[in-house]
Amino acid sequence: MRDLRQFETDLEFENKIRPQQLDNFSGQEKIVENLRIFIKAALMRGDALDHLLLHGPPGLGKTTLANIVSHELGVAMKMTSGPVLDKPGDLAGLLTSLESGDVLFIDEIHRLSPIVEEYLYSAMEDYKIDIMLDKGPSARSIQIELNPFTLIGATTRSGLLTSPLRARFGIQCHLEYYDTDTLRRIICRSAGILGVEIDDKAAIEIAMRSRGTPRVANSLLRRVRDFAMVKGDGRIELGITRYALDALNIDSRGLDMMDNKILSTIIHKFNGGPVGLNTVATAVSEDAGTIEEVYEPFLIKEGFLKRTPRGREVTELAYSHLGVTKPNSEPTLF
Ligand code: ADP
Repeated sequence: MRDLRQFETDLEFENKIRPQQLDNFSGQEKIVENLRIFIKAALMRGDALDHLLLHGPPGLGKTTLANIVSHELGVAMKMTSGPVLDKPGDLAGLLTSLESGDVLFIDEIHRLSPIVEEYLYSAMEDYKIDIMLDKGPSARSIQIELNPFTLIGATTRSGLLTSPLRARFGIQCHLEYYDTDTLRRIICRSAGILGVEIDDKAAIEIAMRSRGTPRVANSLLRRVRDFAMVKGDGRIELGITRYALDALNIDSRGLDMMDNKILSTIIHKFNGGPVGLNTVATAVSEDAGTIEEVYEPFLIKEGFLKRTPRGREVTELAYSHLGVTKPNSEPTLF
């Protein structure tokens, strides 16, 4: 029961602060600028927007952008996700329910089963699907024309998409981590919607500790708001923010547990590197592709890790962040 209530409040919170228009979507300027043009052109022609693939780490705004796109197009959006669609029939039901120009959003599209994926090809390309009638020897299929629609696929692991599927997306956007100033703006906007007063310095502090991710920023804002209400006068200022983030064990640079595990494993088990990706993955019990596409980009962007021809290597910053003294000797090469 408690979990259910928590879930509902999370959902309510998400709905409240999720931007509905491109104008309220901060950052990712290039993507926003391009989408604005593609949406306008589709509206001018009266066509469905080209299929759109959004890829990038979790919490950067893929679902939000899909919502915004359908909103800006003035069409309805149906949502589903790769692992949920296990039979072509599930997909057929969704596709046939779409009105002209509607958006079908498939989250985690890299997790579609091959049979469903193949079924999607003709739907995407010709707006047609084959439906099987009956089973066994009397089985036959009929072709159904679909209304023109836009498929928006979201994935954290674009490397796992097959090339035929990827090639069917006319527009492909890679979402990048957000800089501190953009996150600060997102935090201030969310605080405004929640009716909480927040100092600029406090917003910057939360932004710096949010791993470049709006979802993390919004959830930290919520936690800090609790501290400000109970321990202060409700206003979020720098002192209470630092107190709250320290009490919550939020890393001073915004790294999460896996980020720190990757860095400390490379330092302690592999002398700081260079070490191969698969070896790191085995040592931290995580999938190599997930490390490469979800964790590493942030660690590299923030200067904690380097990709070298000989493998992954931590930087001085990683040593100082983890409070470890870098040994002077050169790592042994095998
Ligand atoms: P993803 O689908 O990539 O995992 P979401 O779209 O669910 O991420 O975004 C997570 C949260 O971050 C949402 O609450 C959303 O409101 C917020 N958010 C994401 N991107 C932005 C942005 N550019 N501007 C404002 N809020 C954002």
